Amino acid sequence: MVIQMRRRDFVFLSANMAAAGLLGTGGASASAGMRFKTIDGDTSRLSNAQFRRFEQQLDGRVIQPGAPAYDSARAIWNARIDHTPGAIVHAENTSDIVQTVRFAADNGIELSIRAGGHNHSGFAVSDGGLMLDLSRMRSADLSANHKRISAAPGMTFAEFDALGQQAGLATTGPIVSMVGLPGYTLGGGIGWLHRKFGAGCDNLIGADVVLASGEVVQASERENEELLWALRGGGGNFGVVSRLDYRLHRLSNVLAGLIFYPLDALETVGKFVDGYLDDAPDDLNVWMLHRLAPPSPALPTDLHGKPVVILAVTWTGGKAEGDRIVAPLAEIQQPLAHLVHWRNYAEWQRALDGAWADDFCNEWVGGYLDTYDSNLRTSIAKFVESASSPYSDFKLARLGGEFARMGPEDTAFGPRSSRYAYVIQTRWPVGEHEQPHLEWTQAFHRSMRARDTGKVYANFIGKDEPRERFRDAYSAASYERLRRIKSEFDPHNMFRQNVNIEPG
Ligand SMILES: Cc1cc2nc3c(=O)[nH]c(=O)nc-3n(C[C@H](O)[C@H](O)[C@H](O)COP(=O)(O)OP(=O)(O)OC[C@H]3O[C@@H](n4cnc5c(N)ncnc54)[C@H](O)[C@@H]3O)c2cc1C
Repeated sequence: MVIQMRRRDFVFLSANMAAAGLLGTGGASASAGMRFKTIDGDTSRLSNAQFRRFEQQLDGRVIQPGAPAYDSARAIWNARIDHTPGAIVHAENTSDIVQTVRFAADNGIELSIRAGGHNHSGFAVSDGGLMLDLSRMRSADLSANHKRISAAPGMTFAEFDALGQQAGLATTGPIVSMVGLPGYTLGGGIGWLHRKFGAGCDNLIGADVVLASGEVVQASERENEELLWALRGGGGNFGVVSRLDYRLHRLSNVLAGLIFYPLDALETVGKFVDGYLDDAPDDLNVWMLHRLAPPSPALPTDLHGKPVVILAVTWTGGKAEGDRIVAPLAEIQQPLAHLVHWRNYAEWQRALDGAWADDFCNEWVGGYLDTYDSNLRTSIAKFVESASSPYSDFKLARLGGEFARMGPEDTAFGPRSSRYAYVIQTRWPVGEHEQPHLEWTQAFHRSMRARDTGKVYANFIGKDEPRERFRDAYSAASYERLRRIKSEFDPHNMFRQNVNIEPG
């Protein structure tokens, strides 16, 4: 005889057995109760019975400190983040999100939201509060005819793009595939396609949002338009997004890959690329990556460890034009390696994944540039040559095209008119002293800050930067508008584990 037990009944039974001392929960002892950090930074004590009542309402599972899965459940991409949540909820569905938000709100508990777990700042993991993990919610509905996809918040771009490509469709995603949809999109979103299809958030056309009250609302261009405006760049400030609807575009094969030049040719290479992009079609997207060449089998061994500037090229247009327009980028001088060819977009989007796997420590800081001159190139080359780690990278993403056709306040995400977004990505193995790496990052960033616009992309704000820096992610007008929307949808600032916007 097969006995079928619903997960909720199983949790209930397990909890009762645990209370009776028949099972080890791996969590706090039955008499001690549970402690959670509150949103004010105090400690809230809950009885085990209180917590059990909450658990019984969930379809997903809860992991408590001491459980065998606890350490892997709290780990995220950046190994520098060592936060210990009071409990981790693995949501299975929107109802689980609603119950978790209500439970946290009723008890004043700090709540963090984890989707793809790739935010380097570690906002996803509350240190002492409740961590809501959405990574099990991975379903999606694709409507190829309507060029729309409706995705659950635990999806990564690897799954999203694999699905889209089956129908020859895509939209702007990041330059690696493991990143989660919500963190990327709600923060703004640049990648291989932003010059062609706009920012990631420009293609977000609707969302379901669980508010601090537990109410589920829809945001679209017809309903709660202000909320949709805020979600396009304002991050996770307004509620837990339980569904994201995107506009897709026809795209299958791209002419894409990497062209390597020695870093001591940066003056010539950078100047050429900068000017070439001025008149290039939106179909051409180029990032410049500055680093020590990785020990990749695709590169000659004598190149490994040498300072290089790498052009990461994506062409989304037709074949003949693409071959003609991309060719000069490989002819600035003799390249060290030329790895550009026609390939499927999803394959290209996975091409850099290996260099950005987890289990490394990371510190990122960034900004925007309106000018790109010879002094700047000299300074970039100097810092990259003296990098504290062979894994670190300085990236410049050329903006413009469709990305820049949006007005500065058309979405919360801005600015739109800058020439480049830059990010210093410092990366070192677990166990190494972080001080030299942080010092290198800070010195490099100070030198960039003297030349940049003062603004910053929310997804590139440094883990240790002051909170005042958050304002720099928005124009003054957008920031005030975001505060008003925050007051309406999250007046008590329950969703504060993020690039936080305080209610106006
Ligand atoms: C290797 C790597 C490559 C990257 N490449 C790019 C790139 O090419 N372009 C680019 O623009 N960015 C890039 N990023 C930055 C990335 O977009 C951000 O770090 C983003 O926040 C990661 O999203 P996530 O869902 O994986 O992160 P998480 O850490 O899970 O979430 C980050 C934050 O987003 C909010 N959030 C997440 N889910 C929800 C939700 N459902 N509802 C409400 N709020 C939510 C929360 O505040 C959460 O703390 C990259 C990051 C990494 C690590």
